[in-house]
Amino acid sequence: MSDLPPVQPAPDPADRTSSQAGAGDGFATRAIHAGQEPDGGTGAVAVPIFQTSTFAQDVVGETRAGYDYSRAGNPTRTALETALAALEGGRHGTAWASGMAAADAAIRALLRPGDHLVIPDDAYGGTFRLVDRICVPWGITYSTAPLHDPAAVAAAVTDRTRLIWCETPTNPLLAVADIAALAELARRSGARLLVDNTFASPYLQQPLALGADVVLHSTTKYIGGHSDVIGGALVTSDDELGEAFAFHAKSMGGVAGPFDSWLTLRGLRTLALRMQAHCANAAAVADMLLGLPKVGRVLYPGLAGHPQHEVAARQMRDFGGMVSFTVVGGVEEAVKVCSRTRLFTLAESLGGVESLIEHPALMTHASVAGSALQVPDDLIRLSVGIEDVDDLLADLADALA
Ligand SMILES: *Cc1c(COP(=O)(O)O)cnc(C)c1O
Repeated sequence: MSDLPPVQPAPDPADRTSSQAGAGDGFATRAIHAGQEPDGGTGAVAVPIFQTSTFAQDVVGETRAGYDYSRAGNPTRTALETALAALEGGRHGTAWASGMAAADAAIRALLRPGDHLVIPDDAYGGTFRLVDRICVPWGITYSTAPLHDPAAVAAAVTDRTRLIWCETPTNPLLAVADIAALAELARRSGARLLVDNTFASPYLQQPLALGADVVLHSTTKYIGGHSDVIGGALVTSDDELGEAFAFHAKSMGGVAGPFDSWLTLRGLRTLALRMQAHCANAAAVADMLLGLPKVGRVLYPGLAGHPQHEVAARQMRDFGGMVSFTVVGGVEEAVKVCSRTRLFTLAESLGGVESLIEHPALMTHASVAGSALQVPDDLIRLSVGIEDVDDLLADLADALA
């Protein structure tokens, strides 16, 4: 368990990078157009929902557009997969029924019994459970390491390590790992680097360009963005891995359905605008929390005093919509605050347009209690939404009065 950073000084707005839409890199354009050309047959501007299990063949073995059965491929899913690959600057995208289905497929494609992987010491709880309860009985071993400390990661790597699993910023402590440094370490060690990019979203951070082999998303979060669909994604530029992921999708079957693919596509078109609003609101929330007497530490990569602020400023376009903080008065007070907010809804998950509040130790991270990944019980995590910022600040100020 990494130590929490000290109380943060007020951030310097000049330290924040620009979060202008269309910052010249074509991201917002790709989000709206990649994989989403008007339908060839009808001209429909929105990608149609191809809600079909199977596709007619004119002659045995001859399909009309390459589709024979929707587990193997479906046009709505293809549109999403093309868009996801374009957003991450990768060559191959696969869309899964959930982030955990994507994680399971990545591990099966990348590891064999006897292999070892390194996971963050504050990994997403579901990832920890997958590795600890499902992979270990199949003969895979793992170590945890604080990924913001490259020396500690290097020390955790063994000659059987085939995968370094990175999350940055981490959940719920918002530590930031140096993706390029981890990519270099992985290359030297004969391992692959996978980055779970769920917290940052591809708008803020592009791990493949920094040397990562695979990017994973829970598209349930920022990419979908409206808390109305569960989904996952894997993106890579490695042709062999891309083929392996597509083969796993067809063989294991945990694929995104047509309607879920369509909802996710509908969400990701506005990712750039939503992320700008999430980042601006989260920065304002972090600033305000710093001044409240009931607040202990504020964890936000955009604060100049965050221990990895410089790494975050280098590899992220802006600092994200997640803010965590500790409450003076311990677990009892933290639990009370969670039920006192009116706009911030008490709920798990993150990345939707609406603001959420939660108590990690008793909610999202209950499954890691007693393990090395246990989180402080006076900690509250906010997913700052895109409501009017003054309303969000007033709600938090009231709950923490
Ligand atoms: C939610 C989440 C997952 C799991 O995704 P699901 O879509 O819930 O299966 C994985 N990693 C991170 C960082 C997450 O927040």
